[in-house]
Formats: sequence, structure tokens, C-alpha cells
Amino acid sequence: MFGECHAHMIMDGVNYREAVAQHQNKVQEEVLRRRFEQYREKGVSFIRDGGDALGVSRRAKEIAGDYGIDYRTPVFAIHKVGHYGRIVGRGFHTMEEYRALVKEAIKQGADFIKIMTTGIVDFHTYGVITGEALKREEVKEMVKIAHQEGMAVMSHTNGSQAAIDAAEAGVDSLEHGNYLNKEAVEALADSSTVWVPTLVTVRNLIGCSRYEDSQIERIRESGAENIRYFRKSGGQAALGSDAGAHCVYHGQGICDEYQAFCTIFGENRELKDWLKQGEDRIKEKFRRCR
Ligand SMILES: [Zn+2]
Repeated sequence: MFGECHAHMIMDGVNYREAVAQHQNKVQEEVLRRRFEQYREKGVSFIRDGGDALGVSRRAKEIAGDYGIDYRTPVFAIHKVGHYGRIVGRGFHTMEEYRALVKEAIKQGADFIKIMTTGIVDFHTYGVITGEALKREEVKEMVKIAHQEGMAVMSHTNGSQAAIDAAEAGVDSLEHGNYLNKEAVEALADSSTVWVPTLVTVRNLIGCSRYEDSQIERIRESGAENIRYFRKSGGQAALGSDAGAHCVYHGQGICDEYQAFCTIFGENRELKDWLKQGEDRIKEKFRRCR
């Protein structure tokens, strides 16, 4: 089985608020153990978390070994105050504050740094990304600082310009990447960034009745077209489902994500090898080197 390159142990795919509230005062270890069981059942032995604000993924790292799982965490994700990201991490105002957060994550045992450079897809309306993207110079500086500290960077990013900026800044992986134009796909394919498109965060919403299927189907199709063009252009992708996101379940999510790729490309040896290669690059880069 493939590894899960993007999960949030703090969420459950059902009810975000309730899932988070459980851990508000104290991390509930039994909940994490149940999730790890779900991964073990599916034969998943590698998980890269996207972080949370309550120390849940930090605790998860301590018990993952009991399940034979190699688990990596950024501890918390880092966002700029006033921009998207509060639900999974901590915020900064200035670059000095950002650097302090990077150091704090390292102190708390982070394996890599997770940054948020844009908002999320508004599933109600095709083409819309919530909030404002960070400026190119800011992203550059953030990546530079993390790399100076010897840490790889996982970047939550949507939209063409933001993806181009992130690729140029040298993020080690780009997460989501919805709504990319050809130029952005090419920039990503030409860079050493691994793209983790989390296709099922869109696909699994079809028929869930929370959003209009016609909008979701349009987002799905644009994502499929982009990942096809990306692969054709020589880019490297990896499988991550954003497990814990709405309708994406732990363990099952990564199976769904693989199926999404199979639907787009057809299941064959080359596809498997390509995805395995992406996972290997994630495993190799997203570890502490000190
Ligand atoms: Zn995520």
C-alpha cells in the first residue's frame, strides 16, 4: 500500500468542530489509537501530517511506532495572522515572529515546516479561493528561513500565481494546488517541488449534499486536466488525501486518492512507479536532518 502524504490526525472527516473539541483540554489518545488502527488495517505504514494547533499530531508521533507507522509532523502549521490557517496552526505578524515559530516547531519535535500561503477552495463557487494569498517576497523569505534551519517545507497553496511563487521560492511539496493555469502547472513541473493534489478533498464531496454537485464536478475536471498535463510535463506528484477533511476518512482516504489517480490515468505499473517515486521523495526530504 502507498503511504499517506497528507493527513490531519486531529480531524475525522465527519464533523470538524466536534473532532477538534475532543482534544481541546487534553489530547485523547484513544482517538488517535483508533485512527492508527484504521491505517494499519489498510496496510499504510507512512503518514505525513499537516499539523494542528492542539498538539494532537505531536502526541500521535509518540505512539505511531506502536502501529509500525513512520509518522512525520510539522507539529503546527504556520500562517500569517489575518490569513487562512488558524484551524491547523499558529500565526505570525512579522518575519521575526515567523522565525521564532519555526524554531518553536523544531523545539517541539517537528520533522518539517508547514506553511499556508493561500486560502482554501470555496466549494460553493467554481474558481473562488477564500482570502488573500501571501506576497511572493514573503513566501520566498519564509521558505528561505525554514531551509536555513535545515527543514523541508510543505506548502498549502491554491491558485496559479501563488503556485508559481511557491515553486519559485523552492517549497519542497505543494499541497492542493487547485485552479492552476498552464503556466503554473509548467512552473511546478519544472521545479523540484512534489505536488500533492489531494484530489479526493474535491471528489469525495460529490453526492454529499453539502455543496452543489455541478460546482464540485467542474473543480474535479479542472484538477484532472491539470494533473494530466503536469505528468506529461515531467512533474512529480505524490498521494495524500488530506484525511480528516470533510468526507475523507483515515485509512480509506489514501485508497480513494489512489483510485482517483487510477480513474484519471488508468491503473498500470508506470502509474504506480511514478507515485511511489513521489512518496519516496517525500519520505526522504521531510525528515529532520539534525
Ligand atoms: Zn491539510
